[in-house]
Amino acid sequence: METLPKQCNILKIEEKWQKKWEEMGIYHFDWKDKKRPTYAIDTPPPYPSGDFHMGNVLNWTYFDIVARYKRMRGYNVYFPQGWDCHGLPTEVETEEHYGISKTDMLPDKFRKLCEQFVEKYIGVMKTAIKQLGCSIDWTTEYKTMNPDYWRRTQLSFVLLYKKGFIYHGTHPVNWCPRCETAIADAEVEYETREGTLHFIRFPLEHKGYLTVATTRPELLPACVTVAVNPNDDRYKQYIGKDINVPIAKRKVKIIAEDMVDPEFGTGVVMICTYGDKADVKSVAKHGLPVIMCIDEKGRMNQNAGKYAEMTIAEAKKAMAKDLNKEGLLEKMEPLRQEVGVCGRCKTPIEILEREQWFMRTRKLTDDVEKNSWEIAWYPDYMRTRLIDWAKSLDWDWVISRQRVFATPIPIWYCKKCKTTVLAEPDWLPIDPRIQPPKIESCPKCGAGEFVPEIDVFDTWFDSSITCAVHAGWPDRKDWRRLFPADVHPSGIDIIRTWAYYLMVRHLALFNEKPYKSCLINGMVLGSDGRKMSKSLGNYVATPEVFSKYGADAARQWAASGGATGSDIPFRWADVEYGWRFLIKLWNVARFASQHLQDYGPTERVKLELLDRWLLSKLAKVVQKATSALEEYQFNIAAEEIRNFTWHTFCDSYIEAVKHRLYKPETYGETRRKAAQHTLYLAIYRILQLLAPIISHTTEEIYQTLYAEDKKHRSIHVSPWPVPDKKMIDEEAERYGDLIIAVIEEIRRDKAERRKPLNTIIKDVTIYAGTTKSAHILNMAQKDITGTCKIEKMKVLERKGKGREIRDYPNVRFVAEY
Ligand SMILES: [Zn+2]
Ligand SMILES: [Zn+2]
Repeated sequence: METLPKQCNILKIEEKWQKKWEEMGIYHFDWKDKKRPTYAIDTPPPYPSGDFHMGNVLNWTYFDIVARYKRMRGYNVYFPQGWDCHGLPTEVETEEHYGISKTDMLPDKFRKLCEQFVEKYIGVMKTAIKQLGCSIDWTTEYKTMNPDYWRRTQLSFVLLYKKGFIYHGTHPVNWCPRCETAIADAEVEYETREGTLHFIRFPLEHKGYLTVATTRPELLPACVTVAVNPNDDRYKQYIGKDINVPIAKRKVKIIAEDMVDPEFGTGVVMICTYGDKADVKSVAKHGLPVIMCIDEKGRMNQNAGKYAEMTIAEAKKAMAKDLNKEGLLEKMEPLRQEVGVCGRCKTPIEILEREQWFMRTRKLTDDVEKNSWEIAWYPDYMRTRLIDWAKSLDWDWVISRQRVFATPIPIWYCKKCKTTVLAEPDWLPIDPRIQPPKIESCPKCGAGEFVPEIDVFDTWFDSSITCAVHAGWPDRKDWRRLFPADVHPSGIDIIRTWAYYLMVRHLALFNEKPYKSCLINGMVLGSDGRKMSKSLGNYVATPEVFSKYGADAARQWAASGGATGSDIPFRWADVEYGWRFLIKLWNVARFASQHLQDYGPTERVKLELLDRWLLSKLAKVVQKATSALEEYQFNIAAEEIRNFTWHTFCDSYIEAVKHRLYKPETYGETRRKAAQHTLYLAIYRILQLLAPIISHTTEEIYQTLYAEDKKHRSIHVSPWPVPDKKMIDEEAERYGDLIIAVIEEIRRDKAERRKPLNTIIKDVTIYAGTTKSAHILNMAQKDITGTCKIEKMKVLERKGKGREIRDYPNVRFVAEY
């Protein structure tokens, strides 16, 4: 066995192993291996933003602990990594960087420019994932913007189309006027904003008026009816009567609508196309006309008459002024209200009608619920988040977007008869915007000209087939070996998008759930307890953490920061503790390596009481850590192992056996051998238990101390320790606890007298209190005198006066220096 050097350069060690692991290829999934069970991780392909933040560090540490643990448990682990490339921010950045508009050029030319940004950002994030020491199989890397991935996205669309899950139609959709695209329900966020409630008088046909309270007077041109609750006695008599809409100068009928809340505003509401989702429901229910007055850029259109071309805010102001002039504006009041905003740019969303492509997702709701119950959730209560979300959806998933940098929808229309032409699977990948369909003429009318679909897919349409794609679909015949994925790890914030879309896509395509278990992580909070964000000034950049303390310390923070699924605060103190732990681990391994130079692992030894005490406790830690990792309770595993290592092993055991290791001439060679044996065994187990969390430092120590004996190429492919029931020795633990307590009390006594620990104590008398305790302490005479440097010690059975031993009130001692 080699000895470890005094200095440990953790950052250098990490860099070295990251390179070596890749050269060794130990993280490759072995398709040829049919013996080991497989374990497939559905790694999320992140959006290449160029910023691998502490939230990502938390997620990837979770994935990697699972991968490393399962590998040691004997699984053939599949840990892929892809990139979810398409996205609006890249389009915007490209336009700004080159001072161009995406509509200035052919889509594939614009796409090339976008790809350059994406490649750059992937590079940054890939470096960070490698610096974190993730055991990803990089031979699996894929990018959703590559045509080979389009092929899969487009094929899944073609198959869903043929199965009747896809339709094209005019339906109201959430629309971001800033991003100028439709967005799905999942991308709408709700924020409380300050609005103004306008009380507007709607003149009745003959005499008088009804007052409507609304925050959106600019929608008056789109008002199609006025509604009251049928049970509201104040207004019952007006149902069916005509009323005049101000600004629009239009007559509408007053209708009865149960959804109207008599308590809100005046109890009279205007129904516009569309102010909100309730309007959409009323329009459908009562067969009302649709009059749109806002365009796709968020400006008033021709239906707004003289207000056309104004922005929404300008129109609101102008109309309020005009209403006031006409004596129709009763009053204005401030109102705090929930507003739906674009998840990306926070602009309030509008509800517009436009032809879109949809996937029939709502008819799968029961199926989603049923399958959610068949999936193991960590933590369990996250299941309801998916079920509640699925049930809350009013609309099908709008899968088309009005953008350029995205996967094209493989559809054309006959120029003459408008028939839809769907691509055949063997045409894929294809971009209809630049390639015609591979047919001579329209199958319906025989005309030869086609118009491409210029809309593209929602990015989630790319990334919600990962479970099948990771498994090798559609190219590998044996893709079902890895499907459904064993674990789908996801953030709490994307259950409603990622976990949900994966579920509906795979259910629709394969009639099977995509994953067997779902591992949910919380968000990372700043040290002030608020969500970490650059704008709040509580942001910590990952490179700062890595360059100061390295990956193994950061991984310890991620693993131990809190219960799985809960929000985890970032605290420098936790990372520093992780760093100090690494130094402690290094020093104890170095100490052991110096004392193990003449040790042969095959030697038979007779263990001492404290050796059995330690090994019994270690066997229990193996049990606890194993069951915690089986349940993905990383913080419990990390704390168990680290506490055992630092306190039980380093502070108590090592201190209590030093005299045996240093002075065999006094304490006996067999007792030295027993301590060597215990050290050898314990450190190896500790390294193995820590390896999934502290991947680099454990590898370095393993390679220096154990690789030659153990013959595993890496600690990460060594078999996970089986809890050794034979080692469990309750009696040894009880006895050992007392001995350790006495040693620690005597050392505390020295410290309180301000004497160095190696001060010789002339005489110690222990009053054991019982025959049993006296017997135990007599057995351990040498351990106590050797460790505490006591010249003479006697143990008396009776009770006596003196310093009390912590946790053993009947045992006391008197020391004479
Ligand atoms: Zn937006
Ligand atoms: Zn035709």
